[in-house]
Amino acid sequence: MDGSMSGDGAAEGPPVGYGWCVDCERYVGDAMAVAYAQGNSGPGKVLEACEAHARVYAALWFAPQWLKDDIAALDARAGRRP
Ligand SMILES: [Zn+2]
Repeated sequence: MDGSMSGDGAAEGPPVGYGWCVDCERYVGDAMAVAYAQGNSGPGKVLEACEAHARVYAALWFAPQWLKDDIAALDARAGRRP
């Protein structure tokens, strides 16, 4: 919408904001979802971690593809290029 940055705008990236990092065990300003715990009923539970820890999770072999995509989108949004 703004288009004021570099202009590629291809990746929006995941929502990142205030939340509880399960690894830091404290509230952080850059928390993002890293896992969804399915409950037997109800909406289930979202596990969040700070961006640094989310990158650790994304590197694990059992990390879901959407988490890897989220990290890639974050990098794209930050303007990093290979
Ligand atoms: Zn953390």
